[in-house]
Amino acid sequence: MRTASRPDTEVEVRRSARRRRTVTAYRENGRTVVLIPAAFSAAEERRWVDQMVAKLQTREERKRRNLASDEDLMVRALELSDAHLDGRAVPASIRWVDNQNRRWGSCTPADRSIRLSSRLRGMPEFVVDYVLVHELAHLLEASHDEHFWALVRAYPQADRALGFLEGVEHGSAGASRPDDDELEPGAVD
Ligand SMILES: [Zn+2]
Repeated sequence: MRTASRPDTEVEVRRSARRRRTVTAYRENGRTVVLIPAAFSAAEERRWVDQMVAKLQTREERKRRNLASDEDLMVRALELSDAHLDGRAVPASIRWVDNQNRRWGSCTPADRSIRLSSRLRGMPEFVVDYVLVHELAHLLEASHDEHFWALVRAYPQADRALGFLEGVEHGSAGASRPDDDELEPGAVD
C-alpha cells in the first residue's frame, strides 16, 4: 500500500495478489482508492491509476452536468423522495436561483416550491442531494424540529454533507457576498 499525492485528490493504490487483470477505482472518505493486481509493474501502475482517476472524474462530471436544468432537479428530487422519504415529498416546482447568497436552498410549503442556490453548482453530488432532501423534508415539516431532522437523516450522507457545507461557509467567511438573500414570505430555508 502506498499513498501518492495528486493535484485534485489523494490517491491510494492497493495491490492485491488475488487480482489478475482487473483494476477497480472508487472514492472513499474523500480520497481515491485504486485496486490493482500485485503483479503490475510501476509503469503499469502509473498508467492505470491515471486512467482510472480520469474515468472517475469524467463520471462525476457527467453526474454534475446531469443536474444542469430545473427539469433535472425535479427528476432528482423525486428519486430522492422515493428513496428516503417514502415518496411523500412531492414538490410542485424546483429551480436554480442566483439570488441566494447566504442560504443553500429554500422551500415554500404553501405552494410546494423549492429553490436551490446556484452556488451549489459544481459541488459534489452528495451535497446537492442533501440540500434537495433538506428542502423536500420541509414539505413534510416546515420547522427544524426533531421530526424534521429525523426525516433529513434518512438520507445516509446528511452529516457528511453538512460537514462539507460548513467547511465551504468557513472557507468563504469574510468574502464579500451580495446581500440579496431575503426569504420570500412563507418560505423556510
Ligand atoms: Zn431547513
